[in-house]
Amino acid sequence: MVVAVDTLEPIREKVEAGERLDFEDGLALFESDDLLALGELADRARRLRGGADEAYFVQNLYLNQTNVCRVKCKFCAFAVTQKQSDAYTYTGEELVEDALRQRELTGFTEIHMVGGESPHVDFDYYVEIVRRLHEALPDVHLKLFTASEIHHMTKLSGLAHEDVLRALRDVGLGSLPGGGAEVFSARVRRLVAPGKEAPEIWLETHRTAHALGIPTHCTMLYGHVETYEERVDHLLRLRALQDETGGFLAFIPLAFHPENTVFERRGWKHTAGSDDLKLIAVSRLLLDNIAHVKAYWIMMGMPLAAVALHFGADDVQGTVVREQIFHAAGARTETEQKIDELVRHVSDAGRIPVQRDTLYNELRRWE
Ligand code: SF4
Repeated sequence: MVVAVDTLEPIREKVEAGERLDFEDGLALFESDDLLALGELADRARRLRGGADEAYFVQNLYLNQTNVCRVKCKFCAFAVTQKQSDAYTYTGEELVEDALRQRELTGFTEIHMVGGESPHVDFDYYVEIVRRLHEALPDVHLKLFTASEIHHMTKLSGLAHEDVLRALRDVGLGSLPGGGAEVFSARVRRLVAPGKEAPEIWLETHRTAHALGIPTHCTMLYGHVETYEERVDHLLRLRALQDETGGFLAFIPLAFHPENTVFERRGWKHTAGSDDLKLIAVSRLLLDNIAHVKAYWIMMGMPLAAVALHFGADDVQGTVVREQIFHAAGARTETEQKIDELVRHVSDAGRIPVQRDTLYNELRRWE
């Protein structure tokens, strides 16, 4: 007689005892096909660590200051060269004008702005756009620039990362988004983003931001060439940095979209919903020191994001006024999710919708 062994049982015992999961546990979780058990375990871990029924979202405006980029990541469908007809680089004045116009339509509390690494601007350009946005919208939190962009600014200016971050903070930068982390494995980076800086630089930039009192977010772009081992390694490196600094506000798993990239021609497909849910659950279980895990509805669609709230996620990101990077790569979700619709999805999932600001202060709740 074959006796089925529940590979999740030892992990469940650790979770119940409040013990930290290790690399082998992470691997066993990814290798498990028992999706519902993974979801239940992740939700249990979330609640044991103090999570309740609230599911958060923020009203935010997405801006991209430029789509000109020198890096040429293979997964990117957003970047262009300066010579292409659809290249743009907005001035501070144009960005402010756009933001003020949008503010009349939606009451966003956060601007999320990232862009390409253009060699055709200088560091003063970045300082100026932050300063202008902050002066025009002093009550709006400015979540701007990936660690890769910060690194790019050190190249443009000759300044150290700390000096770049301090200069931006002093004119209004509130936090960093988490992009640019991709997957930390050197093998993966060589294959999908050979022009990007080493992962140590991403980690060091966030470490430096935290030391300056600038909170940040962290991500993993998954669903391409990475192995389960490389996923676990990535998550554990984030966890180690959080142990050191406590500066990450949330983890956001980003599913790879192959459309309009070289990978589409190779016949690559989107991640399956089951993989998205598994990633949410495993990251919630391994990242025991990062308070929030986001189910980014822009990528997975609101119905699956609502399901992810039962797999360890406690945040669906936001109402997101305009988003271009994932839409350039084929994301087909609505670019503006109306609050009432978002509230409906979250409530129907049995959770309490809470509108938050960037730092997770509660602004409004629906019960
Ligand atoms: S992902 Fe970012 S760094 Fe890479 S090519 Fe696209 S815009 Fe440039």
